Amino acid sequence: MPTHNPQVPALNDESCSPPRSSYPKVSEAMSIKPVELDRAGSIAALLELLCGRHSFLVTSHERPDGDAIGSALGLMHLLEAMGKQVTVAFADPIPAPFHCLAGVERIVSALPPSSPDAVILLECDRLERSGFKCPDFKVMNAAMTINIDHHLSGRDFADFNWIDPEACAVGLMVYDLAVASAVTISPQMAGCLYAAVLTDTGSFTFASTNAATFGCAEHLLECGADANAIAQSIYFSNPPGKVRLLGIALSNMQIEGAVCWSWITLEEMARAGATVEDCEGVVNYLIGIAGVKAAVLLRQTPAQQEFRLSLRSKGEIDVAAIAHHFGGGGHRNASGCTLEGSQAEVTERVLAQLQAACCEPLAARPVLPPTLLA
Ligand code: 5GP
Repeated sequence: MPTHNPQVPALNDESCSPPRSSYPKVSEAMSIKPVELDRAGSIAALLELLCGRHSFLVTSHERPDGDAIGSALGLMHLLEAMGKQVTVAFADPIPAPFHCLAGVERIVSALPPSSPDAVILLECDRLERSGFKCPDFKVMNAAMTINIDHHLSGRDFADFNWIDPEACAVGLMVYDLAVASAVTISPQMAGCLYAAVLTDTGSFTFASTNAATFGCAEHLLECGADANAIAQSIYFSNPPGKVRLLGIALSNMQIEGAVCWSWITLEEMARAGATVEDCEGVVNYLIGIAGVKAAVLLRQTPAQQEFRLSLRSKGEIDVAAIAHHFGGGGHRNASGCTLEGSQAEVTERVLAQLQAACCEPLAARPVLPPTLLA
């Protein structure tokens, strides 16, 4: 449920630029119990907050995906159309498929030294999920934090929180904000938001896709988003290493009952000439198999005894709860987390959860080929 900190000023402030000294500091404002707002109330309150401030830092989660990048850049274009000063920062590099988005060259990889009037976090359930350190935000001394999220695992960690798990993408939430702002949606803004919605709905296929999704996409195309150019860049410009890596991951694949899993080791990534970003989307092939209800891809991290897990499910099977159990988060049918341990240990732990979620009996089995069990 969206919440708003009642002590954050400027909601009823006539001025569009109150003096900085009138803003509460993050630390002061965060301790105040929030009040709940409905969706329209959230949009109206957020627009007033944005109107009442001048400089913004926009960021999203580490290892950014299409919704993180598209919604951040879309919001940057929206704020700039409102006459605001905006910095967009991401802790991790922007994957090549998203280099087509307007304004991507302006994304910086470090928090700016100057203090913005507000930090806006998209798709993050806490400050640290941005990949930047919490103390770094405190050093920036920003006046307030704004959290816009659509994850089931979203939390009210900021001064102003708009969390809508019904939204198919944060890009859609930014689009709703743009429409309510009455700013003209430029082709640049439209392209960024379209890419966000396109990717976070799995090309309009996930359960979150509904009439509002298509209404938004239609309007963004009318505003000048180039659907074909975006699709070419995101889906038809894969580096050869990514496709080689996919081959390796698919040949590692195991299926047991309704659960499918696979893995990518550091050695396999190096052999394929692939990068971490090239692992994106591999898990969708596993959940795409007939009869498979839950799937996981395990990717070894440079820490060696640590694996990133990408979880997917169909229907009512809730992999957000499993990711949450392991300290991660996400959506009911798509979530992620990080687990420490050997590949065999991590695989056993996650398979136990997935099989229980699918009501499968826990089978006695080797979870890895004999060569890897040694
Ligand atoms: P993916 O498997 O594509 O990396 O992530 C699937 C979904 O889960 C995305 O919406 C992503 O934001 C979310 N997610 C992935 N890893 C984490 C994590 O460690 N923490 C949280 N809170 N969400 C995650």
